[in-house]
Amino acid sequence: MNSETIPVTRSSLPSFDEYIEEIRPLWDSRWLTNAGCKHKEFENAIKRYLGVESVTLFVNGHAALESAIEGLGIGEDGRRKVITTPFTFASTTHAIVRRGLEPVFADIKLDDYTLDPLEIAKLAEDPQVGAIVPVHVYGNICDVASIDKIAKKNGLKVIYDAAHAFGVSVGNTSVAEFGDASVFSFHATKVFNSIEGGAVCGSDESLSHKLNYLKNFGINEDGDCDIAGMNGKMNEFCSAMGICNLRHLDSEIEKRRAIAYTYCEYLDGLPGVKMSMPRRGTKPNFAYFPVLFDPVVFGMSRDDVFDVLLKAGVVARRYFYPLTSNLKCYHGRSGFEQGRTPIASWVSENILTLPLFADLSVKDARMICRVIRESKA
Ligand SMILES: *Cc1c(COP(=O)(O)O)cnc(C)c1O
Repeated sequence: MNSETIPVTRSSLPSFDEYIEEIRPLWDSRWLTNAGCKHKEFENAIKRYLGVESVTLFVNGHAALESAIEGLGIGEDGRRKVITTPFTFASTTHAIVRRGLEPVFADIKLDDYTLDPLEIAKLAEDPQVGAIVPVHVYGNICDVASIDKIAKKNGLKVIYDAAHAFGVSVGNTSVAEFGDASVFSFHATKVFNSIEGGAVCGSDESLSHKLNYLKNFGINEDGDCDIAGMNGKMNEFCSAMGICNLRHLDSEIEKRRAIAYTYCEYLDGLPGVKMSMPRRGTKPNFAYFPVLFDPVVFGMSRDDVFDVLLKAGVVARRYFYPLTSNLKCYHGRSGFEQGRTPIASWVSENILTLPLFADLSVKDARMICRVIRESKA
């Protein structure tokens, strides 16, 4: 990759000096991990930012997701099926499978790519279903009201994979407040990063109590273990990076907004090109810029557009492709047969996310639009 290449994403960083100041106290305390002062400070900063009662930090989003599933006791009553979406990152599906549970894939909506509540409702009638794990994909908030209704009616737990949705809110309600728990990722490629990191958020203090044991091998006050926990702790250096990046998050999101609006303006009206702008009443985070290319109407396939962009030095991403239900490790598994989620399949084959990061210039975003417009022979 030469220096002219435009990557699909680029990690946000504070200034070097800001980070160095943030980690300086660690040289005095020699306290590098296990809930030190930066960890506490970061947890409180997230609580304030999201306006949520309970935040439990983790080493990464995936460990947070597996721990939330375990902490809420999904499957313990014998109901081992979990309704979820195949249009997501591998982590969502892997977390369910690695907990010894069985994903049941529901189809998504074409307008915002989140789970279709009508499809969830049908699958929720199966008495073996015990939970729903929806994804606020690209930062688009799921139909939380409908999902809540279905969950209440059938006695299901809901864990939102909110890895894409940090900072998003609906009206005055933070995305972290929906369901039994919401899981965030602070991976380097996400809107908000702590290098690696994640969190489980919610309003249930007893859940966070349990998660704090789970992420530290299950070790209790007596030095004994009541549960067989894991090591899911976030260290002080990642916490310090999170503290710094959180200070700048709002301005980073504003810069992303400018790029997203540039794409919208310059791709608007192209036949066969569908963009999704934030729903009214939501405060978006502009995490990704997905564009759906209808190969028949646009006259070119998604893969052709990808190649044309690459030749122009622009790295777009087939995100998400393949569907998680079609990942190699799941081939031949029952319940993972293709064709169950036709909309998700179609979207997965025709969607491309364009470069979007705070430092991308409007000029480059316009150039990307021009390449796409001119790609049509
Ligand atoms: C990034 C991501 C995760 C996993 O987060 P990590 O912090 O990378 O472990 C889970 N779900 C989705 C949808 C993601 O995009």
